[in-house]
Amino acid sequence: MAKVGFEQSKEPIQVGAALLEGGSITISFNEKKSSPAAKQNGYMFENSLHAELKLFAHRNTPANKATVYVYRALKDGTLAIARPCTDCMTLIKCWGVKRVVYTIQDGWQKEKI
Ligand SMILES: [Zn+2]
Repeated sequence: MAKVGFEQSKEPIQVGAALLEGGSITISFNEKKSSPAAKQNGYMFENSLHAELKLFAHRNTPANKATVYVYRALKDGTLAIARPCTDCMTLIKCWGVKRVVYTIQDGWQKEKI
């Protein structure tokens, strides 16, 4: 699912993210623009909207049982490290998410947070 978001990104470095919670899925991708969500969350990168941040843009309830997936690949299709940055990790934690799964060079990495 995170790959679907990745494919929609128009950025030189494409990143896709997905929030899986029970049967519902939210998909997002990174963009280079400022957003009200970034300002509202006191987000450091106001001009670059990370895919993970966008997952929570329209949310108002905790995501305690959710898992966040982040996908990134290079132009040649090889997977690349997509561990959320410190700001995104903090945000993900604030929303109550306990598990993050992201691409690394040779597959997927799971992390409990
Ligand atoms: Zn980030």
